[in-house]
Amino acid sequence: MSNNEENNRFTIQSFKSVECFDVSADVLVCGFGGAGGSAALEAALAGAEVVLFERASGSGGSTGMSSCEMYLGGSGGTALQKELGYEDSTENMISYLEMALEERGDPEKIRTYVEGAADHYDWAVSLGVTYKPAVMLERDVVPLTDESLLFTGNERTEIFKRKADPVPRGHVPSHEGDFGGRIFMDALTDAVEKAGVDIHYDSRVIRLLVKADGRVAGVVAREDNKEVFYEARRGVVLASGGFIMNKEMTAKYIPEIHSWATPYGNPFDMGDGIRLGMAAGGSVINMDQAFLSFPLYPPAKLTNGIMVNLQGDRFVNEDAYLARLGHYSSLQDEQRTYLLVDQDDYDHPMYIERLDVVAVGDTIEEIERESGLFPDGALQETVAFYNKFAETSQDPKFHKSPEWIKPLKAKPFALLDLSFENQTAVIMPGTTGPLTFSLGGLDTLPSGEVISVSGSVIPGLYAAGRVTAGLPRTSKGYASGMSVGDATFFGRLAGKSAAANAGQV
Ligand SMILES: Cc1cc2nc3c(=O)[nH]c(=O)nc-3n(C[C@H](O)[C@H](O)[C@H](O)COP(=O)(O)OP(=O)(O)OC[C@H]3O[C@@H](n4cnc5c(N)ncnc54)[C@H](O)[C@@H]3O)c2cc1C
Repeated sequence: MSNNEENNRFTIQSFKSVECFDVSADVLVCGFGGAGGSAALEAALAGAEVVLFERASGSGGSTGMSSCEMYLGGSGGTALQKELGYEDSTENMISYLEMALEERGDPEKIRTYVEGAADHYDWAVSLGVTYKPAVMLERDVVPLTDESLLFTGNERTEIFKRKADPVPRGHVPSHEGDFGGRIFMDALTDAVEKAGVDIHYDSRVIRLLVKADGRVAGVVAREDNKEVFYEARRGVVLASGGFIMNKEMTAKYIPEIHSWATPYGNPFDMGDGIRLGMAAGGSVINMDQAFLSFPLYPPAKLTNGIMVNLQGDRFVNEDAYLARLGHYSSLQDEQRTYLLVDQDDYDHPMYIERLDVVAVGDTIEEIERESGLFPDGALQETVAFYNKFAETSQDPKFHKSPEWIKPLKAKPFALLDLSFENQTAVIMPGTTGPLTFSLGGLDTLPSGEVISVSGSVIPGLYAAGRVTAGLPRTSKGYASGMSVGDATFFGRLAGKSAAANAGQV
């Protein structure tokens, strides 16, 4: 099929043109990952007759591949936070998220999410997902041991601490190894089945059926090589994930990232739901933003070093979360950046195996000469300035936390290459650049209702998860757990809203 034919599929068809529906149900949900499963479950529990379509042969999507970290807190703390002695007020968590998401954050979504996040943890537990009351305090992305609580963002960095008390909010199902997503999706799938949802695997939603007044009132799905027509008596929920696997869309919306990052997601992250929503008049926002990972995280010990660009200048506090490091690195010339460490810290096998050593020398001048990268004297100036303040554990330029500040003195020094073209993700050998997934999509209200290009609500159409611009909006402010937390939390709200929509019939 040509690209044009492929793209023409994701469109609308007049409801009236359908002579006979194969199936009629209250709520139709497109995609059985975290958002879709949560939506279908809540709609069914609210008494709706629900059909759930999944293009793959089983549930999961990117949620199933994920660690299933959920970013939760507020309301005094989740049960897990409280059990571990952490207090987390709603206003504290909101302050953190507002600072993290800056002007791109959606204040209504932030507040709705934070006010319900502690209950959302209880909901995950009620599905049968187990969390161990143990906290991991190292700087890491996910525990490979079985602790269930950790810091997954920039909470402990100096500039964030000025606005919000640091509290660990990454909640991950307890298991040795990285299997959280599958554990969660198995529990959710079980609940969805028990709630009586009619699940159609190997079923790809390709068109929305729209009434003359603009109401979305059904879908066309491709099953067994046939087009099957479904009527939605109350509403349609789009939950088909993001667009990171669709090369045309990444080239159009995130062209730079498309050129140097590796897509991270399930193969069906093709933007189907975004295209369907747009065809029905839905507005898309934040389409130029994506999550970017970065391999300098862990090992934390190398945070004692400094990151520099081709000008020999530092450009970020090195203790920032990996997504923020990815963001600031992406802004440097040619995305070329380097890590300078001294002898005391350069002993981590993961780094020695994975990163090119550009230069080794007893002085910074030697490093400059051997690397041939920087303007004469620039790196020496940077290190001299850094060391001067490091003596008293200060970083007046980027405010790295004192715990990671020490003067670079122990020779020899090593300069390691962190440039995107030389990066390989440990979890995806053979890839280059940071791993990425999209953060833009349909504009929705917290209820899941999709907003049209003219600013009104599209009747009968709901969306949640990466098909929308949800809670996470930038790599700069990303904290792990924002995506699965957002997809499942707002998925539940979208399912409830669709089930409550009596105006369709
Ligand atoms: C390896 C990995 C680890 C991650 N770890 C975390 C983490 O720990 N915490 C976190 O917050 N985020 C994490 N993320 C990101 C997060 O997993 C996703 O952003 C989030 O799970 C998306 O949820 P979703 O429900 O919107 O989409 P998905 O879970 O991807 O579900 C969408 C579903 O829709 C289906 N679909 C697509 N098109 C159609 C169609 N036309 N018709 C029918 N079905 C369709 C897909 O097959 C898929 O099953 C991770 C991502 C990856 C790839």
